[in-house]
Amino acid sequence: MLNLSVLLESTARAHPDRTAVVSGEQTISYAELDRKARQLAEAVRARGVRPGDRVALICPNLPEFPVVYFGLLKAGAVVVPLNPLLKERELEFIFGDSGAVAVFAWEGSEQLPVLDTARRAAAAAPGTPEVIALGELADLLAPHPGTAATEPTGAEDPAVIIYTSGTTGTPKGATLSHVSLLLNARMKELLIPKHDHDVVLVALPLYHIFGQTSVLNGNIHGGATLVLLPRFDPGTALDLLIEHRVTLFSGVPSMFQAFLQVDPDGVRLRKAAETVRLITSGGAPLPVAVFERFDRLCGLQIRQGYGLSETSPTVTFCPWDEPIRPASVGKPVWGVDIQVFDHQDQPVPAGTVGEIVIRGHCLMLGYFNRPEATAEAIRDGWFHTGDLGRFDEDGWLYVVDRLKDLILRGGYNVYPAEVEQVLLQHPSVAMTAVVGQPHERLGQEVVAYVVPRTGHEVDVEELSAFARERLAEYKYPRRIIVQDELPMTSTGKILKRALP
Ligand code: ATP
Repeated sequence: MLNLSVLLESTARAHPDRTAVVSGEQTISYAELDRKARQLAEAVRARGVRPGDRVALICPNLPEFPVVYFGLLKAGAVVVPLNPLLKERELEFIFGDSGAVAVFAWEGSEQLPVLDTARRAAAAAPGTPEVIALGELADLLAPHPGTAATEPTGAEDPAVIIYTSGTTGTPKGATLSHVSLLLNARMKELLIPKHDHDVVLVALPLYHIFGQTSVLNGNIHGGATLVLLPRFDPGTALDLLIEHRVTLFSGVPSMFQAFLQVDPDGVRLRKAAETVRLITSGGAPLPVAVFERFDRLCGLQIRQGYGLSETSPTVTFCPWDEPIRPASVGKPVWGVDIQVFDHQDQPVPAGTVGEIVIRGHCLMLGYFNRPEATAEAIRDGWFHTGDLGRFDEDGWLYVVDRLKDLILRGGYNVYPAEVEQVLLQHPSVAMTAVVGQPHERLGQEVVAYVVPRTGHEVDVEELSAFARERLAEYKYPRRIIVQDELPMTSTGKILKRALP
């Protein structure tokens, strides 16, 4: 028997009175969080939810998230965490695809009526799942004492289904087991030095794999105090880092870029750096220029990890006892095999670029109800990531780019990330996205979208010459378009397909 909710139970036993969650003025101790989760398990059992049933959870970073998440796990249900920004059509699809029997939905706001949208989607979805308003959680929990035992799930039973955002077609549900998520949650013990009581700023959304596992599960297991930030805003995040004397922070690269934009002189970052002992970045490539600017400004070196929803997620991390190689995502973590394959699924030597493939306890059980898609992704036991990468001679991995973002210009491969790295070295550039645009003769042309750094202007001619000096003739961007911002996903990744 193994149930992921053991993470919360064991910390609640070890540190019952310690604050588990801070959300605005509200604080919840570990004992209270565990009790509420037990009450929730009893409440959903009483409503007919059975082990293995899928239940959706639509909630931003609020205390209700861990209550419902761990409560559903305790009841043996499979949690389907969903982004509150999803539209009715998208929710209806996922409710039907996952066969959800119930949905917990946050009220939302006038501009974002999440509960109403969930209700309409549920009414139209097959099986018409029951929608439970998170605003009524207290009433739901009240009649239950919170004393019942946790469901004895099997280690390989599904615990969570993460729906891919569907950038490459219809969303697919990566089904993750209790054991793969538990091993991920315990990984921090192997990767970073122990600390008696960490304080963590939770800025990454909890419905996304990175925030949910590395930030929520890993730190609940570690007995940390989690300061929840419902919507990322760099100014508020900096205030909270300082006010709560935060020790750990995980983000996506755009968050670090946003910090540099709102605090260009690093006054607040240096203050935060007095207590922060580790910052990690994942989810998208971290530009070396951002690593260097951060280090120079406040002395904090950002450590990268790499992972995917399908791999529960972390598969590499920068080793603690070696100097950081800023362009690398680190080395494979314990128990995970990583190889770089060519087109024939054969390993290539160090230094050669190919597709990154992964094997180990971390792999998803499969895409929910999609045997063909699963068989296409996991071949011979190796999960094919769709990411291009290479190892160096010392076993550090470099993610070169996503296969689908590769630009083919006049018969040459151009890796957008390489062009982005060069543009970001220019002092006037804060953020950039390089994409291929259709071209009659060449197939594709290299185009760069650029956001200026606070207090700077971008001189397009000069930036173009700067890129041309540093990149081969076929790689440098022929068009540079200056914009105030770039389209982002709600998890803070640049949404390239939304660029004109
Ligand atoms: P979706 O599949 O939902 O459309 P997604 O591809 O971003 O979205 P995720 O599982 O959220 O799916 O993210 C995994 C991807 O993020 C990886 O395939 C890789 O392209 C990218 N990624 C993660 N960490 C890093 C990193 N440290 N450096 C570069 N890229 C990274």
